[in-house]
Amino acid sequence: MKTNLEKWNHYKTLIDHRASEYMDTISAVIPKNFYMINVFQNKVYECEVLKRIYSIQGLWYNGKKPTKKDIIKIAEIYEQKIDFTPDKAFFEYKYHWGDGGTARTAIKINTLLSSNGAWLNKEDAEMALIIERKLYEENKAFDEQHKKDPSYDYPSNGYKFLGWLNSGITDKEAYQKCFDLKHRRIGVSHNRRGSENTISCPICKIYYKYDCSD
Ligand SMILES: [Zn+2]
Repeated sequence: MKTNLEKWNHYKTLIDHRASEYMDTISAVIPKNFYMINVFQNKVYECEVLKRIYSIQGLWYNGKKPTKKDIIKIAEIYEQKIDFTPDKAFFEYKYHWGDGGTARTAIKINTLLSSNGAWLNKEDAEMALIIERKLYEENKAFDEQHKKDPSYDYPSNGYKFLGWLNSGITDKEAYQKCFDLKHRRIGVSHNRRGSENTISCPICKIYYKYDCSD
């Protein structure tokens, strides 16, 4: 007679095997490491891959040992056809942050393979950092150049008022144009309650307000 834990492990092994076969189709190779960037600290950091994991709901039990109910649950998961998707396939990894601290987390395999914020190649990460850092510096300079205090007089400085977001913007065309051009806007909060906030675009010379108080 098998114990519940043995039964659990039996199903778990079978499910893991299936998940592993699926992940082989995405990335049979498990890289030793990859690289990510920290734009604020202006550095590339190395991430060490620990293993591939596939996230399946319900593959856990409470307490020290699985109960009969847990066995029924895992058996059901095993018997149903698991609809594997790349979105649930991860590399678990660890990295060092600051003074000797280590963190463990996971990244989607496809995110890494598509170089979307993580890179297999250090030089690629360094290139991305240069681009991101430049953008960061530009944004910082823009914010600094255009920063406003709550008493800033928008109309006298040639800004057009578009109304309140909450009750409807009066010049939708101007608002949409600025939005479509992805202009960087400047936000000012007038009070702690959040009942008056002003957003302005120094390029379009427009401003509007919104209320985010409860
Ligand atoms: Zn604009």
